[in-house]
Amino acid sequence: MQRNNIGTLYLVPTPIGNLKDVTSRALEIYNLVDYIACEDTRNTSKLLHLLGIDKPTFSCHEHNELTASNKIISDLLDGKNIAYSSDAGMPCISDPGYLLLNKCIENNINIIPLPGANAALTALIASGLETKHFLFYGFLDPKISQKERELEDLINFPYTIIFYESPHKIYDTLKSLYKIFGNRKITICRELTKLHEEFIRTNLLEASKIEDNLIGEMVLIVEGNNKEKSSSIDDESISELYNKLINNGLSNKDAVIALSALFDIKKNALKKLTMK
Ligand code: SAM
Repeated sequence: MQRNNIGTLYLVPTPIGNLKDVTSRALEIYNLVDYIACEDTRNTSKLLHLLGIDKPTFSCHEHNELTASNKIISDLLDGKNIAYSSDAGMPCISDPGYLLLNKCIENNINIIPLPGANAALTALIASGLETKHFLFYGFLDPKISQKERELEDLINFPYTIIFYESPHKIYDTLKSLYKIFGNRKITICRELTKLHEEFIRTNLLEASKIEDNLIGEMVLIVEGNNKEKSSSIDDESISELYNKLINNGLSNKDAVIALSALFDIKKNALKKLTMK
């Protein structure tokens, strides 16, 4: 149950590149609240300056969210109204805010989320890939070995997958995506809402060969695994195929990944079979 006489936390999205994507409701809330808690006070102050809003800011980011959120909760309980914004797009989506939000829930504080800019959905709707069902995955681990383990867990997921990626990891990620998923459609959505906005609609084989020119912010929209898998293959044929892959230079691990992507058999069963 929510209490009276306490403040409200407003979750306010910010533009992901184009200042005009601030909604008039966001402006209204920024003007109404007592202060704006945010991921980076310098970035939010710049934004507020451009919007002509004069309001105090308070820092609440990944590294101080625990202590900063205690102060915000105490102010909310004292009746203050507070907005929370991250640097770009929606707070809590690959951005801080989750901890603060959950403390508000624990304390029965009113929470009002505003709709607004978000890179994942903006990319998805223009990607040309299936939008009926999809998974927002966010960032993969930056370490290649861990990244590929995460991708292996997604190998059979049948619907579109949305990844965030930073420019200096993009080439490794495209290579890992091809290595683990094989050839599927991908749309690389670059610099959304900005001057150099670009959609590269291609496949993972071609994308894995890109060596340069992918600069700026990027969202990767990858086709799900919609291949009809054959479950009728017998053990002998699997062993034969496995030996062919090994003779062609694939490692044991890669051969198992390739076979499990093609046939509807559990990876552990494949491993046992190939150890014979
Ligand atoms: N909270 C944000 C949201 O709602 O979209 C996401 C923040 S996350 C820290 C930053 C990542 O979002 C970037 O690495 C990139 O993958 C994606 N991103 C943010 N702005 C973008 C833009 N203008 N164009 C393409 N991708 C963007």
